[in-house]
Amino acid sequence: GSGNSAANEVAPPGVNINVPHSARIYDYWLGGKDNFAVDRAVGDAMMQAIPGMRYMAGENRKFVHRAARDLVVEEGIRQFLDIGTGIPTRPNLHEIAQGIAPETRVVYVDNDPIVLVHARALMLSSPQGRSEYISADLRDPRSILEDPALRDTLDLTEPVGLTLIAILMLLADEDDPWGKVEALRDAMPSGSCLAITHPTADFNPDEVNTAVAAATGAGMTLVARSREAVARFFGDWELLEPGLVPVSAWRPDSHVENQQAAYYWSGVARKP
Ligand code: SAH
Repeated sequence: GSGNSAANEVAPPGVNINVPHSARIYDYWLGGKDNFAVDRAVGDAMMQAIPGMRYMAGENRKFVHRAARDLVVEEGIRQFLDIGTGIPTRPNLHEIAQGIAPETRVVYVDNDPIVLVHARALMLSSPQGRSEYISADLRDPRSILEDPALRDTLDLTEPVGLTLIAILMLLADEDDPWGKVEALRDAMPSGSCLAITHPTADFNPDEVNTAVAAATGAGMTLVARSREAVARFFGDWELLEPGLVPVSAWRPDSHVENQQAAYYWSGVARKP
């Protein structure tokens, strides 16, 4: 490997390699190459606090696979709005969904310039479906909902799969993440579904609070939230089985020894 040296690191335009970014830290945990020394330093500090961090990241990705599959197969969803997409990680959401229903349309949204660099890879759609990328911010939901690419790709009179996977912890309470998610929910028609994963200190306060302190000490915003705080993101939408549960316990494909070893709450709810 290249070690932790910042020497010889070249950043694409708009990408600041002097401050850690969540997309790049997460990419580091997942074994990707789109991360820089500053990201690996914070990523390592957080892994010291949470030895199972790479396992957590993997469990979070596996939830994306299972939830996307079930939204297509069980709920009949054929269009997705994925906010906080991250650096492409195969299989990406549209690859899962289009693998089952090739006509599925996906709009990806992220506000990090390094994700924009990779947008082309996210837009390799099946010929029957469509995949688009919007550079926008969850803190301004209207800018997402009114983006011409979204209006052109998604039909907001038909059910949408709204996915907010491992992003809401990056919004402080002062940013009113509940209000932002409510604005998105309100724009969706009946039958739409909302999938969320969110890190929590509920299962292992010591490890998680130490990791959060490492991130915030490096200048990042990172908030672990309680089950009750995560539940509020769903508003009056109806949680599908098995409810709001640890991420490894959401319709697992195989037996999981310790369902609380990945410190995320997760759930999928349907708009009545
Ligand atoms: N959803 C992916 C990636 C999670 S990493 C997965 O779970 O595998 C979190 C992503 O959210 C990063 O790519 C980061 O750039 C993005 N993000 C953080 N704050 C955001 C905001 N306010 N608006 C849009 N994207 C944001």
